[in-house]
Amino acid sequence: MERIAVFPGSFDPFTLGHESIVLRGLKLFDRVIVGVGSNDSKQPFFSPEARVAMIRDLFQDEPRIDVQYYTDLTIDFCRRNKAQYMLRGLRTTSDFEYERVVAQVNQAMLPEVESVFMLTFPEHTAINSTVVRKVLRYGGDVSKFLPARLNIQRYMPR
Ligand code: ADP
Repeated sequence: MERIAVFPGSFDPFTLGHESIVLRGLKLFDRVIVGVGSNDSKQPFFSPEARVAMIRDLFQDEPRIDVQYYTDLTIDFCRRNKAQYMLRGLRTTSDFEYERVVAQVNQAMLPEVESVFMLTFPEHTAINSTVVRKVLRYGGDVSKFLPARLNIQRYMPR
């Protein structure tokens, strides 16, 4: 049976840390579906269309990666896509505390889907979409924190 993992997140924007988790995920799973969620507690900087487009463009040569926007519960998104795994990245202990609660709630609601956590590479621990957005707002150069092939200027809100 095909092993399908959903990698859910806001990806506002998609960083080097996210890219690394997706590429490492491809070694464990047959398919990785990047689920661009609408996080209602965060006002997005990039529109959903821009976030989906930047990730699709980045992985256009990798048929095992799919990118979709969703607005319902992540477990329902997993169910729809027949995913058996939910992939998440862990940077710090505060990530762990947050992820633990989310994963345990998801497990209670949909036990068939197993959450899988990957420890960030040390060089990606400080990379954080919130900080990248702040630097972008003030016109700073964020290229160091983004995948090399991602030309963020193409997706900037007007
Ligand atoms: P969310 O709003 O769901 O936290 P994010 O886009 O911030 O969405 O993160 C999506 C996933 O990517 C989360 O599992 C998060 O821990 C992980 N992640 C974020 N930044 C990094 C990074 N620098 N390295 C590895 N994983 C990361």
